[in-house]
Parts: sequence; structure tokens; C-alpha cells
Amino acid sequence: MSCHAPSPPPAVLEESPLKSVQPRGRFRTIALIGPPNSGKSTLFNRLTGLRQKVANYPGVTVEQRFGRMSGIRRHDLTLIDLPGIYSLGGYSEDARVAVDVLKGEMPGTPRPDAVLIVLDALNLSRQLMLAGPILAMGLPTMVLLNMADLMESRGGVVDPLALAQELGRPVALISAARGTGIDAIERFLQQRGGANSEIARTLPVIPIELPVLQNPGECRRWASQVSSRTKYKAPASPLWTRRLDSVLLHRVWGPLIFLTVVVTVFQAVFTVGQPLSDWMGNGLTLLGTKVAHTIPVPWLQELVRNGLWNGVQAVLVFLPQILLLFLFIGILEDSGYLARAALIADRLMRSIGLNGKAFIPLLSAYACAVPAIMATRTIENKRDRLATILVAPFMTCSARLPIYTLIIAAFIPNRPVLGSLIGMRACVMLSLYVLGFLAALLTAKLLKSSVLKASSAPFVLELPQYRWPTVRSLSLRLYDRSALFLKKAGTIILAVSFVLWVLSILPLHNGHFSDLAGSVIGKLGHLVEPALRPLGFNWKIGIGLLSSIIAREVIVGTLGTLYGVDPNTQALSLQAALRHDMTIGGAIALVVFFAFAMQCTSTLAVVRRETNSLRWPVIQFCYMSGLAYIAALLTNQILLHLL
Ligand code: GDP
Repeated sequence: MSCHAPSPPPAVLEESPLKSVQPRGRFRTIALIGPPNSGKSTLFNRLTGLRQKVANYPGVTVEQRFGRMSGIRRHDLTLIDLPGIYSLGGYSEDARVAVDVLKGEMPGTPRPDAVLIVLDALNLSRQLMLAGPILAMGLPTMVLLNMADLMESRGGVVDPLALAQELGRPVALISAARGTGIDAIERFLQQRGGANSEIARTLPVIPIELPVLQNPGECRRWASQVSSRTKYKAPASPLWTRRLDSVLLHRVWGPLIFLTVVVTVFQAVFTVGQPLSDWMGNGLTLLGTKVAHTIPVPWLQELVRNGLWNGVQAVLVFLPQILLLFLFIGILEDSGYLARAALIADRLMRSIGLNGKAFIPLLSAYACAVPAIMATRTIENKRDRLATILVAPFMTCSARLPIYTLIIAAFIPNRPVLGSLIGMRACVMLSLYVLGFLAALLTAKLLKSSVLKASSAPFVLELPQYRWPTVRSLSLRLYDRSALFLKKAGTIILAVSFVLWVLSILPLHNGHFSDLAGSVIGKLGHLVEPALRPLGFNWKIGIGLLSSIIAREVIVGTLGTLYGVDPNTQALSLQAALRHDMTIGGAIALVVFFAFAMQCTSTLAVVRRETNSLRWPVIQFCYMSGLAYIAALLTNQILLHLL
């Protein structure tokens, strides 16, 4: 691996740096680059004022975010966010994309006219390693030292002027979160290069010959020399950070605290989230009835009320719980605790032979397997990467939350357990999360001790500083999540609800709707029912399982629609209708089925793309579905005998 642009080798920092800030016409496109966690997204959001677009770079899975710089009233400039990387070398797709964009070789992306490098000022000595090779590319570049607020409060010392002289480029100390120092970026962008620029006047730049950087070792040495010559002093970890780490990373206390945090989060999702969901459900029912009453045509009223509204509402009511979960995950991540949890879990990962680097993708699979599978690109060992891709969908993604919450609220009493330490509902929910995690671990162990045997590389994780999560960053996460969830409810779930409703009234008899049992969907349901009976599932659940192959949360919409059009259960809430129709054994079997089954076409598509083969997604689908069927069968049969 080298720390410079791979081609043309070697990247040389030998030219006069002033050459790169010669006048070159008006800027149009600005690239933003920096290591992960340097605050790049925060700055991107600030500069674009949240008006941004997301696409994929052609032919790769790397996400491309770009937006007009309207946050600083520069609507004429487009900011392109490059992937977060530590170096330009290596084999990762992220680094290749960054190099291609910077060189103007990325199809469909204009060559940037200028570059903003964001570095975490708290870890400058290491982060400068990324700056060297980028400066060598010769584009007008500004180096931004982020986290100015923390540097000041923790007593770090950095001299932007000295650094500017050392690097031959303008340098500014900023805080992306607080918005300080952003005016320096505005000034840099105003200038059209050359010595006339305001920035060049404020930050004297002296041409210097910089050394040739051929490999990571030289890069590191250069970075540490530059930081010592400019009298950089990283802020010492505050005493309380060290004290906190000695407890949170303790061999015994660490895992115990982690467990307590997780239990508390689940408990809160229920105790706070359930009333919010109920409240939202009541509101939506009221709204649905009101809207339906305004429709004069009876069949259309039927379609809107029972077909579309029921399906979408059944899913929408889970928004508060999903948002709460993401709020907690956001707080844990932004505060720096999640990285500590990763370190604790790494010991476990190692014992099952998985690469330590697999932990971050697996952790993000708790939100959604699709970005998690994309995140496995950081794992260089091919076999380790494949093993991680194959087990990631076992982690409990947020799409499972609606069916889990629905079944738990309908069938599990709200009783305290373990001496009222935790509620029974939270306990069942937690068990389902653990079940998915264990399935992932055991499958990984199986793979790693057979077809995907390989030795693991050591795990290197930078522990971020503890920070107070900002309201801005948390709101952004929740906004993203809600947008995604609402989009799904408004597209896939609405469409499936519509199709199901149509199938539930066809064929027409003398212009009248079919009854549910005689309809196309009823017949199809009864066709699959014999295979599902031993699992404790009726035909409606069967249809739910079939429709949720598209996406897991679809099952809740399907059940909402099917029970909504059934005259026997129409008057009941969905929870009551399920209690009317299922035993507790079948209900638990259903959530166990969901813990294991691969019901997500997006995940299958991304596995196909990332493994570049049809074989692996097919194997994964069959393995997970088979496991789900057997586990649900056993659960139902055992509970049938026990209860
Ligand atoms: P990225 O991975 O580079 O995109 O980093 P993010 O923008 O997600 O920032 C990582 C964390 O640092 C988040 O919790 C941000 O809220 C926080 N952060 C970003 N900039 C600043 C800053 O200037 N000051 C402080 N205190 N926190 C910041």
C-alpha cells in the first residue's frame, strides 16, 4: 500500500506549491475530502445548507453526494463530497473513486477546480498523511483543521499560519459543528487564485520544495515532521476521558455496562415509543375515516379506507419507535461510545475467527444490511469480506422492528421480569436481537472454519474523543431515517396494499366483489397454507410472508390490508385481529422466522453486485429461508407442547 495516488507513480510533492494557486478562471466545482470522522459531513451540510443530492458513481457502489453551496450563498458553486478515506493508496474502491474524481477521470463528474481538505485537528499528526498526496496533485487546495472548539477547550496547540507556510496552501482552523471559521472558506472561494487573492494576503504562502513521498512510511514521517516543525501539540486526553475509558473498556465492567446500555435502550423504545405509536395510530385511524367519508363512490371509499389506508397506516405507526431507536444509536455513536463498544466486541469477533474490521459493517447492519454490505469494502481479505457479507443480513435491521413490535405488543404481557429490572416486552425484543446476532456469529464460525478459511489481519480502530452529540447531527440522522421510511410507506407499501386489495375483491361476481376466502388472494393463501400450518401460520400470514420477500416491513402493511378487508376482523385493531387468529406459539414462531429469513430484494441485489456473482445471493437466500422455516417450525411445535 502506498499513501500517494497510485497512478502515475510516484506522487511527488516537488513542484512549487504556488504554481497550483495560479489564476485559472472561475471556480465551479469544489471537492471536499477528509478522513472518516473528521467532520466532513457536518461541513458538507453546513456549506450546502442541506440542499444536496445523492447518487452513485458509475460502475461502483460508492455514494456520491453533491450540492450547491447555498449554505454560504454561493449557489454558483457545486460541492462534491468524496468518500471518507485515510489515504489515497490501497485497493479500496473509496480511494480509487477519490483519485479519479480529483484527476477529472470520473465519467460524469467534472474535474474539481479546487479542493477543501478537512482534517481533525485533534489528530493532526496522523491526518496530515492524507493531505500530502492531495496537495501534490496541484489543484488549488485549502486545508481545514476542524474541531477548533475542542482544540481550544482541551488545550491543544496548532498554528495555521505556520502550517500554511509549511504546506504552501491556505490553512484555516474551523469548527464545522459551530460554524466558526467558515468565512475563511468563503474568502478562499472568492479568490481566483494567485498572489492577488485575499486569502494569499492574509495567509502568507512561501514556495518550498517538499519531499518526494513514495510510501506510507515516508508519508507518516513527513506528516509527523511537519506537525512538530509547526509546533503542533495534540490536546492531551482529559483526565476524565482516561478515567471513563478505564471503566468503559474494563474487561469485566466494559461488557456489563454495554449490556446495561443496550437493555436501557430497548426498554426506552417500548416505554416511550409504544404510547407515541398508539397515539399516532389513533390519529391516523381518525384521519383515514374522515378522508374516506369525503369520497362519494362506495368502491373507491372501500379502496381508500380498507385497501390503501390500512396497509400504510399499519406500517407508519412504527415510525416513533424506529426514530427513538435511531436517536439512541445516534447519541451512542456521536458521543464516541459506540467505538468503545466495537473494541469490546472485537474480542468476541476474534474468537470466532472474523476479521475485527467486520464489526463496523455488522454494527451498521442494525440499521440496514444494504449500507453494511457496502461498508465491507474496508475488509481487504476477500474471504473475510465474503463471510461478513453473508452474515450481515442476520443482524436485526430496522425493517424487522414493525413486525417485532406488533407481535410483542399483541401477545406479550407488559409485566416486569428479573425483579422488575426490565419489562417482559423489552426482554423479548432484546432476545430477538441476540438471536439474530448469534445466527450471524455461528454462521460466520461455520464459514470461517470451512469454505472461507483465512487468517485475520489485526484490527486497528481509532478511538474518537468523547463528545457531546450535537442536536444538528442527531436531527439530520432522524430526518434521513424518516425520509427513507416514509418513502417506502408511500411507494412499495402503498403499491403492495393496492395490488392486494385488487386481488382480494377479484374475481367479480355479477359486478359484486368476491368475499375474501373466494378471492384470488384467498385462493393463493390457501394454496400455501398447508406448508405453513405446522409453523402456526394461517393463510393471511402466508400472503404476508410472500409479499414481504420484497421488504420485511411489507408484511405489516399486508396484514393491515387483509384483516381490514375481512368482515370478521374489520372492526378490530390489527393487534386484536392477530390475537383472534393466532396462538402464542405461532406468533413467536413468526418473529423467529423474521429473525432468520432473507426477505429483502435490495439486500439480495447488493450482495449480487458486491460479490459479482449470482451464486452467493442464491445460497444466502436458500440458507436463511431454510433456517427460518426450521427454526419457526421448532418454535411453534415446542411451544405447542409446553403451553
Ligand atoms: P465524517 O465522518 O467526516 O463525515 O464526520 P461527521 O461530520 O459525521 O462528524 C463526526 C462527529 O464529529 C459528529 O458527531 C459531529 O457532530 C462531530 N463534529 C463535526 N465537526 C465538529 C466540530 O467542529 N466540533 C465538534 N465538537 N464536533 C464536531
